[in-house]
Amino acid sequence: VEHYLNNIARQENLNAFLEVWPEEARAQAVAVDAKLAAGTAGKLAGMVIGLKDVLAYEGHALQSSSRILDGFKSLFTGTAVQRLLDEDAILIGRQNCDEFAMGASNESSYFGPARNALAPDRVPGGSSGGSAVAVQADMCLASIGSDTGGSVRQPAAFCGIVGFKPTYSRISRYGLVAYASSFDQIGTLTRSVEDAALLLEVMAGSDQFDSTVSQQPVPAYSQELTPALQYRIGYIQDCLVRPGLNPEIKAATEATLEQLRGQGHVVEAVEFPYLDFIVPTYYILTTAEASSNLSRYDGVKFGYRAPDVTDLESLYKKTRSQGFGPEVQRRIILGTFVLSASYYDAYYTKAQRVRRLIKEKTDELLRDYDFLVLPTTPTTAFKIGDEDRDTLSMYLADIFTVQASLAGVPAISVPNGLDSQGLPIGLQVLAGAFRESQLLAFAGSLK
Ligand code: GLN
Repeated sequence: VEHYLNNIARQENLNAFLEVWPEEARAQAVAVDAKLAAGTAGKLAGMVIGLKDVLAYEGHALQSSSRILDGFKSLFTGTAVQRLLDEDAILIGRQNCDEFAMGASNESSYFGPARNALAPDRVPGGSSGGSAVAVQADMCLASIGSDTGGSVRQPAAFCGIVGFKPTYSRISRYGLVAYASSFDQIGTLTRSVEDAALLLEVMAGSDQFDSTVSQQPVPAYSQELTPALQYRIGYIQDCLVRPGLNPEIKAATEATLEQLRGQGHVVEAVEFPYLDFIVPTYYILTTAEASSNLSRYDGVKFGYRAPDVTDLESLYKKTRSQGFGPEVQRRIILGTFVLSASYYDAYYTKAQRVRRLIKEKTDELLRDYDFLVLPTTPTTAFKIGDEDRDTLSMYLADIFTVQASLAGVPAISVPNGLDSQGLPIGLQVLAGAFRESQLLAFAGSLK
């Protein structure tokens, strides 16, 4: 605990943590020590973990890196976080992220961007940016984040660590601030695949507080990490010839595929005809869900309330105009538009249908192949505040991560070397729904 507290204090410039809990962490450590001595310690004894600022922990501030939740403290602990505590994890603090997890750079945080430890003028990725930097810069052993369209995988790729999103519904979302409920999953940012497996094993499983969570039994993932000798691996050729894909990332991905072939795996190009539709489908559906989920922040029940209001309408308008940042406002407007009576069928209904096609095709590929392998991101970490980047190009950069989110299947990003500037490259692997054991075993063998 002292080691991590020192590293946090020494690297405040990286803006990874919004709040640190030194006294609580020390007290937890003492309690865990006693349990270790008595032989009663849990599976995560001594594991020092940080929480993205979207996870409810009783009595602790919870803000989703937004002004609109200023002063809000959670009244309860979410299921996943409670399960970490029950297995004697030590929670060290609350981590910076994009506002309401909307973004891919951590720049939309009300608290300013987190910084990539390898190049502090560059983003760590997002939305779980602070959580990724914290692991990258040894400020905690692991972080718990959330992934709606890539938010643990993309920052993991930018920071050179492991980012893992389980199957949709594998981990209870009770106590996770909602962005787009049919996509949101809790995920992990770790140094190793073994840690990801252990954390999944602890957090996954049925829960009376989330009616959408899977009832499937939870395997002992951490005990099932032996890879098979031969896998069937597919890769989407079109992904590798996308304009905008950094040639060094392409080369690194192709080299890995070649290496896998050399190891005796079946490696084949596959067709996926919907690549151009996945980003538009994702942004129509997630903004629609977000516009509904975020209607609860009205200045009455939670956090920030604008001063000088005259009536109920001005309370809503002023609170929401002042409380939400520009990216969140943009998405609420977009989502409200696609749900509006005259456009609902043209956008929302259409996007639901396209989602179904994408899911069916992805599921089919993942029946024919054990895994799909592709880059995690089209670029490496970019500069903070870069003028050349507009909103649309940021959305389009999610091209490789949102397929797994639309399909609800598990996906992991593992480090795949560095580019010529020394910036990390990520490799992503997708598996069929609930095939986390195989996915983690294979990912662990990619060293
Ligand atoms: N970059 C994506 C978005 O902004 C993903 C975010 C996420 O997974 N929370 O929606």
